[in-house]
Amino acid sequence: MATNAQLDVSLKRLKKKGVRITPQREIILTYLITHHNHPSVDTIRDAIDKKLPNLSVATIYNTLKLFVDNGLVIELPNKDGGLRYDFFGVPHYHAICENCGKIFDIFDESYPDIVAHVQKVAREKVGFEVTGAQLEVTGICPKCEKKLAKQKRTQ
Ligand code: ZN
Ligand code: MN
Repeated sequence: MATNAQLDVSLKRLKKKGVRITPQREIILTYLITHHNHPSVDTIRDAIDKKLPNLSVATIYNTLKLFVDNGLVIELPNKDGGLRYDFFGVPHYHAICENCGKIFDIFDESYPDIVAHVQKVAREKVGFEVTGAQLEVTGICPKCEKKLAKQKRTQ
């Protein structure tokens, strides 16, 4: 989906839930829609500095929380103890490198089926109503795999 369409759909969703759309909210959301680098609050702060020079980290944090609460954005805990943010308009899962911490997006046509399966099983087994899901797999990214193989050879 084009950026504008994704922004439109997202803003409509917020409005429907009674959330007021301010220019700063729109700018932060647009940044997240166009950047899939899983930014931290500080990264977002630096990136939108030209457009919104006086916006505090606390305001950005609160805006992100609002998006998270409304299901538009997800929070990803990072290796360094901080949080990363990700626009979740197109559901996907993440592969995280254990060596360098890089987060990869995996868009998988079967992902909704996987979530539906988990939902069904949770309901059947323990009567739990799953309302949200985030899937994360950990491992070694291709770059680190090469690097580690090279290190092994030269040892
Ligand atoms: Zn890596
Ligand atoms: Mn992602």
